[in-house]
Amino acid sequence: MGPGIVTARRIVRTAPVTPGAVPAEVVWAFRDRRHRVGDHRIWQGTADKGTTPVLYVDDVRYPARHVAWVLHHDTEPVGLIKAGCGARLCVHGPHLTDDISRQRERLLYAALHGVTLAGPCPAGTHDLAEHGYVRPSGAIECRGCDNARRRTKSLEGARAT
Ligand SMILES: [Zn+2]
Ligand SMILES: [Zn+2]
Repeated sequence: MGPGIVTARRIVRTAPVTPGAVPAEVVWAFRDRRHRVGDHRIWQGTADKGTTPVLYVDDVRYPARHVAWVLHHDTEPVGLIKAGCGARLCVHGPHLTDDISRQRERLLYAALHGVTLAGPCPAGTHDLAEHGYVRPSGAIECRGCDNARRRTKSLEGARAT
């Protein structure tokens, strides 16, 4: 490439969202794009694949649920953030769940069924306090094993095609 050739490619980067350090423009832009529907705050901005709310400020991409989480909890989420209320594009802080809060719910649900999730899973590979859950039937299952099974299955599927 010779001198004078300018490539005008817009570079969009995803910014980290840090508790206590969300830029004011991002907070304003975030609040601007929420629409109150009942208890929910439905995202009116862009959504990746129609399901992941995103926010662009100065060509920087911010995952909107991450912003919502940090503004509400003032902590880092762990794993994927989902709308626990089931409303597809809800970004209401109290409605969002992460790996930790979802597992806390599973432990509570198990306790209601008289089951204490602790110790190794049936396969002996995972800690039930971290990966265990109880089916409505009362059967104890392990998400760690579920994920391993799913990975094996998708590998087999890839080989078959
Ligand atoms: Zn909601
Ligand atoms: Zn397991």
